[in-house]
Amino acid sequence: MTNTDTADVDATVTQVAALARAGSELVRVTVNNEPAARAVPEIVARLADQEVTVPIIGDFHYNGHILLPKYAETAAALAKYRINPGNVGARRRDEHFKTILEVALAHDKPVRIGVNWGSLDQNLLTELMDQNAKRDEPLDAREVTLNAMVESAMRSAAFAEETGLAHDRIILSVKMSQVQDLVDVYRKLAPLSDYPLHLGLTEAGMGAKGIVASAAGLALLLQEGIGDTIRVSLTPAPGGDRTEEVRVAQQILQAMELRSFLPQVTACPGCGRTTSTFFQEMADQIQTYLRDQMPAWKTRHPGVEEMRVAVMGCVVNGPGESKHANIGISLPGTSEEPKAPVYVDGKLQVTLKGDRIVAEFLQILNEYVARTYAAPIQAEA
Ligand code: SF4
Repeated sequence: MTNTDTADVDATVTQVAALARAGSELVRVTVNNEPAARAVPEIVARLADQEVTVPIIGDFHYNGHILLPKYAETAAALAKYRINPGNVGARRRDEHFKTILEVALAHDKPVRIGVNWGSLDQNLLTELMDQNAKRDEPLDAREVTLNAMVESAMRSAAFAEETGLAHDRIILSVKMSQVQDLVDVYRKLAPLSDYPLHLGLTEAGMGAKGIVASAAGLALLLQEGIGDTIRVSLTPAPGGDRTEEVRVAQQILQAMELRSFLPQVTACPGCGRTTSTFFQEMADQIQTYLRDQMPAWKTRHPGVEEMRVAVMGCVVNGPGESKHANIGISLPGTSEEPKAPVYVDGKLQVTLKGDRIVAEFLQILNEYVARTYAAPIQAEA
């Protein structure tokens, strides 16, 4: 999801394009006011001019029932609407929700019913709390809250279908900010329907905390076959790179062996056997090189995203790990002979020496990619 002011067309186009180039397959923008709503068609058009065709999803809270009917071009340009049932209005909730759904119907757009723990429908929560209080053995407040999240999503989906939205135009999400809550709420929701589910740990936080918590929550659910799309909601450092959340999402899917996006580098953590930083620098250079090559390799070398490269720090695990990779190098540790055997498909191919090890290894890598992941020859009519 972008964090630019959507009304700032230049900034939003730049960020959407960056997210798409990083590999995002859906990008959500907030449509929070009239200038934002007015900007959407131009954003979509300018992206198309740059051949960025990633679907743009509009995120609506509080005023979607006003903005969507008023800005028909925006309603048409968006690929999907995200509606938060907790934020469509307390008193005239159904009326506002219905208005948005009618726009979705008119423009043949899918809708994600995105329930969020921070904005859960308080009337519904109160209703379920009251019912719970009358039970012989009341559930604890956490359980009732999780049930209210699920109930909000399911009731909203039923309402959308009653309004005329087709069953297969509805996606659900029930985002929580704590890992165990997230896992439990999706486990409750998943068996209740076949609606596609969007997963994400909301407000995951910054840096390692946000990455680890997102990975933990999403991995548990994905392992159970729960989830159709994911988002990693990281708080970037000031001036930080918004595309980090895309890279983290890809790494989660690739670590779970669900999708492949980028050749993976297996590198040992290093220890007292590697006293110089050469090995860390080499692992970093190769990782960066692989990422930089991917936009071109993706089309020229199909399948390369599944390649595994090993960069190991010494003889202890170096040759073994290198043999298990498609291509691997075992660098000399402290007091080892200064030579670096390179293994290709499990076999020793060459032993590198001297100060051009990185360049020579990259050349072997490029030759391997060209040889192993050649694009199929296309017949020309
Ligand atoms: S492979 Fe060698 S350098 Fe790397 S962690 Fe193991 S013992 Fe240490």
